[in-house]
Amino acid sequence: GQPVCECNDCYGGNDCSEFFHGCSADADSGDPVFFEPFWMQHATDSVVVTSGWHRMSYKYYKYVDSTTMSIELESYIRKLHSIAGNAITEGRYMVFGVGSTQLLSAAVYALSSENSSSPSNVLASIPFYPIYKDQTVLFNSENFQFEGDTNSWQSNNGTNNMDVVEFVTSPNNPDGELKKSVLGGKTIYDHAYLWPHFTPITGPSDHDLMLFTLSKLTGHGGTRFGWAIIKDKDIYEKFLNYIELADMGISKDTQLRVLKLLKVVVEGDGKPLFEFAYNKMRDRWDRLTTVFSKSTRFSIQQRHPLHCNFFNETRLPSPAYAWVKCEREDDDDCSAVLEAGKIIGRRGSRFSDKDRYTRLSLIKSQDDFELLLQRLTELVSLENGSI
Ligand code: PMP
Repeated sequence: GQPVCECNDCYGGNDCSEFFHGCSADADSGDPVFFEPFWMQHATDSVVVTSGWHRMSYKYYKYVDSTTMSIELESYIRKLHSIAGNAITEGRYMVFGVGSTQLLSAAVYALSSENSSSPSNVLASIPFYPIYKDQTVLFNSENFQFEGDTNSWQSNNGTNNMDVVEFVTSPNNPDGELKKSVLGGKTIYDHAYLWPHFTPITGPSDHDLMLFTLSKLTGHGGTRFGWAIIKDKDIYEKFLNYIELADMGISKDTQLRVLKLLKVVVEGDGKPLFEFAYNKMRDRWDRLTTVFSKSTRFSIQQRHPLHCNFFNETRLPSPAYAWVKCEREDDDDCSAVLEAGKIIGRRGSRFSDKDRYTRLSLIKSQDDFELLLQRLTELVSLENGSI
């Protein structure tokens, strides 16, 4: 008969209970499904039901006409930041987006110069999240162009460069580093991972333009919701202009769901959600570092303890991704080496870095993580065994 569930590649049969022993561990995508058990525990208080006649009108969409719900959602987001202690929101403007993905391009548009004779230069530091480049190239504007890596820009232009828009991803995707601006020009702080489960919160971020996403806060990547926190009124207005022309505002259905989810998140001052997510990530990192400590062929990024104001304790970061380096001279295609060991990662060149690096996602389901760990253990044990 018809299967009763959608199985992933490693399972089959009617109820996905049949395990295919030879299958590969897929650690490619950054889909944050590890939150699923938390939301199962909160199934009732996170439910949303909407009747067909509810909220039909355009005018209810934020920034065509703000509704009480949009205003309430905004105040929950401000409350959340003050609980987590990760960003200053007092006296700042806020704009919603279709994921933070949409806000990345809105930010480039808002920060680039309109009337100058040459386009603004958009840069990021290698290794960086590929969408920064891909979007800037796609939109192909006269007002901005992607110039690549901040380091090569610095050595070619000295320090007196003028019109730059720098993406600063902190913590960074793929390597988890807490990045700072290196060019000193206009900046877009992408804080997708600036939450207590991924990194110690050392103090509130206080930059002119900061981007956040629901995806890596609660795991609801599919809801497509992000927000920008903006200091400057002119920049804020350019964001609004962008969102109005691109979408006429963000789906009210989405906003309603996000509001329901955030009400659960701020319960108990954020402790239940952040503790659940932190414990999961710490457990995964503990087990991962044990495997890598037995290897000389593969290494992962160094982590340094910092004081976390949220948990009021000094802790190691537990990033969303492991940034794996193949140490052997011949292993310059690390993804191929891992693939031969039945592990699928994302190759370094996707992040404009060397293919000697590969990113492994640690935020997928428990089954995915268990299989990843099993395949890594098998691969590392070969080092001390037959080869
Ligand atoms: N920025 C970074 C650094 C990311 O890793 C991601 C998601 N992988 C995003 C932005 C976009 O997330 P979303 O569109 O789901 O908000």
